[in-house]
Amino acid sequence: MTITDRYRFASVCAGLRFRRAGFTLIELLVAISIIAVLIAILLPALGKARDSGEAAVCLSNQRQTTTAVLAYAVEHQDALPGAGNLSSGPPSGPNSQASWFFSLEDYVDTDISDIARCPEDQSERWETQDHANGLKRVVSYASNFYLAGVLTGFENYRSLRLLRNPSKTNFMSELAESGSYATSDHIHAELWLTNPPQRAAEQVELDQHNGISHWSYLDGHAAPAPLDEVYRIGPDSTFGNIDWIANRFNPKVAR
Ligand SMILES: [Zn+2]
Repeated sequence: MTITDRYRFASVCAGLRFRRAGFTLIELLVAISIIAVLIAILLPALGKARDSGEAAVCLSNQRQTTTAVLAYAVEHQDALPGAGNLSSGPPSGPNSQASWFFSLEDYVDTDISDIARCPEDQSERWETQDHANGLKRVVSYASNFYLAGVLTGFENYRSLRLLRNPSKTNFMSELAESGSYATSDHIHAELWLTNPPQRAAEQVELDQHNGISHWSYLDGHAAPAPLDEVYRIGPDSTFGNIDWIANRFNPKVAR
């Protein structure tokens, strides 16, 4: 090998080393676009997996709490837990301790706070007080006021014995994240008659889980359903005679 040959050989080797040490611009762009395509494919799938995981946790929260209601009733001559206004500070409402949140503490296997928040619940009221009532949010879930039996002049259904159809009688709903119900622990479905979609939305987060909400019933089960399935007034209704297609809140007509 002449000196020139050696020089050429060394140059070729150096060139090869240089080639192997990095990528050309084209290779880099191809790699980046493949990664971008993979991310675009995987992200929605990951988001969906997270959403269905959170929905499962929410349903489980409602099932555990509503099963605790049944255990509570066994020890209280079939009576159901009450409702109250809740505060994370010192009790501010006269009937805070009457809330299901406190009544059921001893009937769940965990700290009741751990199952009182839906993982999709992003309400600002967990951190910031409602200026109107001074309360913060303590629970994501609301009991059904028809069952609390504390409204004067109102039919009292605060006993399992008074329920004709427990598997169709609602116990828990998902509280609206904003507005005056965001810091409550119960809903008033008896006030929905005049404009059900709007009235219900003021009290319940109707689209909490991919456009739908979760509800539990007094046989201990919980399930997703649109508003129409749990509360719907028939077209032939008159003011004095409501033709219910669905009303899972009022025990008298729950079906
Ligand atoms: Zn939820």
